[in-house]
Amino acid sequence: MRALDSKNLILASHNAGKLREISDLISPYGFSVRSVADLGLPEPDEDGTTFEQNAYTKAYAAARATGEIALSDDSGLCVDALDGAPGVYTADWAEKADGSGRDFMMAMEKVEAALGEKGADAPDQRRGYFCAVLCLCWPDGHAEYFRGEAHGQLVWPPRGEDGFGYDPVFQPDGHERTFGQMSAQEKHGWSVDHGEGLSHRARAFAKFAIALLP
Ligand code: IMP
Repeated sequence: MRALDSKNLILASHNAGKLREISDLISPYGFSVRSVADLGLPEPDEDGTTFEQNAYTKAYAAARATGEIALSDDSGLCVDALDGAPGVYTADWAEKADGSGRDFMMAMEKVEAALGEKGADAPDQRRGYFCAVLCLCWPDGHAEYFRGEAHGQLVWPPRGEDGFGYDPVFQPDGHERTFGQMSAQEKHGWSVDHGEGLSHRARAFAKFAIALLP
């Protein structure tokens, strides 16, 4: 694994929810962090078929544009009864038909409708997981990947106002509340000793931290 020999990091995301969470997770390590959104850089097209491919596309575009090391996150919700959908298309399921942005209530309703079509009513028919792949990419194109998953069940109706995206319909295993009902700290699942983490992003970040952060 290539050493991380810079204290400057570009966060290769325009997603406010992800940026907030990654900033939280990395803040104890003393990096100077800027996002591609802060820098006014465009979002590249995500045309890959895996989280790794899309994570690389975002991180490499940011590293090449800035000449600095970039960290991206490609993530999504994979529902067992839907053969892993929406998966890499999780953000796309929220695109409004008129192209005016994203509507996550509509996206959660689509997932629920798809589960309904499968007759998936019982909790064990409503299992799924969030996946996050973090990609750390250098300007020369070298990349390292860290994957985290959080398994649980899809609930309906949505519960909670916290978090972002599909958080209100995802209840992680071992918990009675959805990610949307948890504080950021609780969703990260991090105690002061930075354990494994609860959310997919915190779990991926824990692997990154163990491998590369002091
Ligand atoms: P992408 O990585 O840009 O393709 O977008 C992933 C999408 O997955 C986001 O727009 C969110 O809707 C969803 N997502 C990823 N992580 C989370 C999370 O922690 N909570 C809720 N939704 C998430």
